[in-house]
Amino acid sequence: MSTSEPKIAIIGAGLSGLVAAICLEEQGFAPEIFEASDSIGGRIKTDFYEGIPLDHGFQVLLTEYPLTKKYLDYGALGLKHFLPGALLYRKGKTSKIGDPLRNATFLFSTVFSGVGSIQDKWKIFRLSSSLKNKSIAQLFEAPGTSTLDFLKEYGFSDRIIDNFFRPFFSGIFLEDELTTSSRMFQFVYKMFSEGDAAIPEKGMQEIPKQLYERLWNTKIHYNRSVARVDGKTIHINGDILDFDAVIIATDPTKLLEQLSATPVQWHSSHTLYFKTKASTMNLPIIGLLTKSDTLVNNLHFVTDVIPVSGSDAILSATVVRAHELSETDLVARAKKELLDCCKLNDLEFIRGYRIDRALPKLKTAHYESRLVKYSDHVFLAGDHLANGSINAAMLSGEQAASETMKALEQTK
Ligand SMILES: Cc1cc2nc3c(=O)[nH]c(=O)nc-3n(C[C@H](O)[C@H](O)[C@H](O)COP(=O)(O)OP(=O)(O)OC[C@H]3O[C@@H](n4cnc5c(N)ncnc54)[C@H](O)[C@@H]3O)c2cc1C
Repeated sequence: MSTSEPKIAIIGAGLSGLVAAICLEEQGFAPEIFEASDSIGGRIKTDFYEGIPLDHGFQVLLTEYPLTKKYLDYGALGLKHFLPGALLYRKGKTSKIGDPLRNATFLFSTVFSGVGSIQDKWKIFRLSSSLKNKSIAQLFEAPGTSTLDFLKEYGFSDRIIDNFFRPFFSGIFLEDELTTSSRMFQFVYKMFSEGDAAIPEKGMQEIPKQLYERLWNTKIHYNRSVARVDGKTIHINGDILDFDAVIIATDPTKLLEQLSATPVQWHSSHTLYFKTKASTMNLPIIGLLTKSDTLVNNLHFVTDVIPVSGSDAILSATVVRAHELSETDLVARAKKELLDCCKLNDLEFIRGYRIDRALPKLKTAHYESRLVKYSDHVFLAGDHLANGSINAAMLSGEQAASETMKALEQTK
């Protein structure tokens, strides 16, 4: 590209920024990314412990997401799939409920374990079938309410809500009151019903890495935290840089003075990793604590999902409920809960990741970004514009790139 071609800055190398760069490159542009940290991936990061990937916060790729199907090569990621179901730790007993979201016939075990009623089973069947027959667009066009109100209005019993829906979706929405929009609930439910939850064999960070590997003409400046965006100008540590267009692929409220009064609010989570001699699950499945007063919401053995020969078993346990505990006290509390509810002992704490800004708290959920073109030269991307998911982040990057190119075309 010649130097007279438009100069485009992207702020943030998370999924939305990386997808924006891919789309721009496909049309012959050579954007520059300014990233505050020293690596790509944003909220998707992985560390390793004795060769075992530890994600910064438990998250999964839903294989039916339209945008991950479009941009990722699942084969190259070596996806490891979770079983479609859950282990419920309830009143000292463990019930394995098979595929309640994908196939209603598996619900017999749910019904007989006392997790829900026969009516609940039929309602799950009805809900699964009605969602299969609806497009994603229809789900997001429907009037939204909270997930909890939706489940109640649908007629689900308190028993199935408390024993299954609340713990399962708390772990996904990172909030346990199920205030998240029912549109998002139905979208996620549909994705679970029609595909799998999976993790790349080398951890979630392989997702942004694969996007990054598609970039040939994008320059990434690491450790460059943008302080302010002023029209076409970005301010970084005293430097003032001019561009023809700027894509802000992160929470823009600190960068644009006009938005500073309405900062994005966030849900947080804290994932703790423990080492132990052997898995007690021996299955790639998510375990849920159903008691209303535990801090631990969900657990799984990383080494059951991604087996590493000769290694100890590595347990991931995620806390969603708000707490004021130090990490040391949280670890002690989590160990007690895991012993009392799941009979897990001999747990050695190895690492913890508290993520304060994990998922955006949104009043309602949209499939596409609501606000892409902020001004003639500034465009927005990021999951906070639509819904907290990998799919939304990627789609927002695509939308921002498309609007940017349209605007540049008009100014030619
Ligand atoms: C714990 C947790 C669990 C999750 N679970 C799931 C799940 O199971 N399934 C799912 O689909 N999604 C899940 N998500 C959500 C998913 O990870 C996000 O939707 C997605 O990664 C957001 O990408 P993004 O590009 O919008 O933002 P980010 O990843 O936040 O990227 C923004 C980037 O901008 C950079 N940046 C910020 N400010 C500046 C600045 N001033 N200057 C320069 N750079 C800046 C940041 O360093 C970052 O790299 C989860 C997220 C977390 C944290």
